Amino acid sequence: MTGKVWLTGAGPGAPDLLTVRAMRLLQQADIVFHDALVNPEIVAIAAGAERVAVGKRCGRHSTAQRFINKRLVDAATTHRTIVRLKGGDPMLFGRAQEEIDALLAAGVEIEVVPGVTSALAASADTLRSLTARGLSRSVTFVTPRVGAGEDRSNWLHAAAAADTAVIYMGSHEAAAIGAALIAAGRDPAAPAVLIEQASLPARQVLPGTLATLGAAASRLSGGPALIVVGENFRAVAARMAVDAVPLQLAEPASGASSRRQA
Ligand code: SAH
Repeated sequence: MTGKVWLTGAGPGAPDLLTVRAMRLLQQADIVFHDALVNPEIVAIAAGAERVAVGKRCGRHSTAQRFINKRLVDAATTHRTIVRLKGGDPMLFGRAQEEIDALLAAGVEIEVVPGVTSALAASADTLRSLTARGLSRSVTFVTPRVGAGEDRSNWLHAAAAADTAVIYMGSHEAAAIGAALIAAGRDPAAPAVLIEQASLPARQVLPGTLATLGAAASRLSGGPALIVVGENFRAVAARMAVDAVPLQLAEPASGASSRRQA
């Protein structure tokens, strides 16, 4: 094995929310395997690398996990710096463990580079803290989504028990999620907010309650979205515009010096 795999978080979408480490790795990579949902602007930072889209496109065909594992292992025999780029943080609902285990079993060197998970971008976009003194001392990250052949998830217990629940991969069944939480004992008037495309210019924040989640979800435009439920999200105002920080960091160091001379 000649190569090392860097399992890297791409953050929630805005390129300037990449970590500096992730950006350096993208600039140095020989090959990048990225999830289909990663912002193309971020993938483009790896200008000198072979770029391969694999897997994870909500509801559409995605490369089988076993095949992704194999491609990563194979790449380690032919490339030196291999970046496996996943949305948000790779260790949260990213099937990172399967890839880590496959690489370890094959004797491939691997390192994980954390990223900003979308829950944190959603909290930022709403200006509401996931925790709040006296209101929220517990946060849970859940998903109702289960893979083929998996047992039913017990996400509902966790989501009903936590002060703040962040629900990943649930926006397509938002009405059912609202109803399930109400049936599990949560107040139908409990604040529930949908945040679509958190951190990006096209973001949408749709505030409401558990009872109105379904209606709010009908206003989504098909991008990735989270549901956040919790008392501290009562005061959320609908917001759309984002003042994005221009992505100057992404310019290669050599370009910067030649511009200084110009
Ligand atoms: N590892 C990722 C999550 C992957 S699961 C992370 O840490 O964020 C994919 C789900 O993440 C989507 O269905 C959606 O619920 C959520 N998601 C990802 N990016 C998002 C974004 N920019 N805004 C809102 N939700 C997002």
